[in-house]
Amino acid sequence: MPDYCVSKVALDSGEHIVHRLDVNCPLIPSEDHRRDFAMLTDDDEAMSRAARQFDHVDGCPECMTHRNDHATTQAVDASIAALITVTNM
Ligand SMILES: [Zn+2]
Repeated sequence: MPDYCVSKVALDSGEHIVHRLDVNCPLIPSEDHRRDFAMLTDDDEAMSRAARQFDHVDGCPECMTHRNDHATTQAVDASIAALITVTNM
């Protein structure tokens, strides 16, 4: 039963990215900037949970099997970089 999270911060393209918490994903946002889902069955359940909270969701390109063309590693990385910039202001 893996744990998942969804980023509260959308990509430029509008998607909120879902990650697995039980793998060592380099793109997971800090705890302040995500909502955690504990003990889900699989990636499908994580995506549907996230979709109830945000209009546009997508799976992380590094740790999820669900993904589309918008959610590249570079795009997710850029959204986290933007977040760090905002936090430091
Ligand atoms: Zn991830």
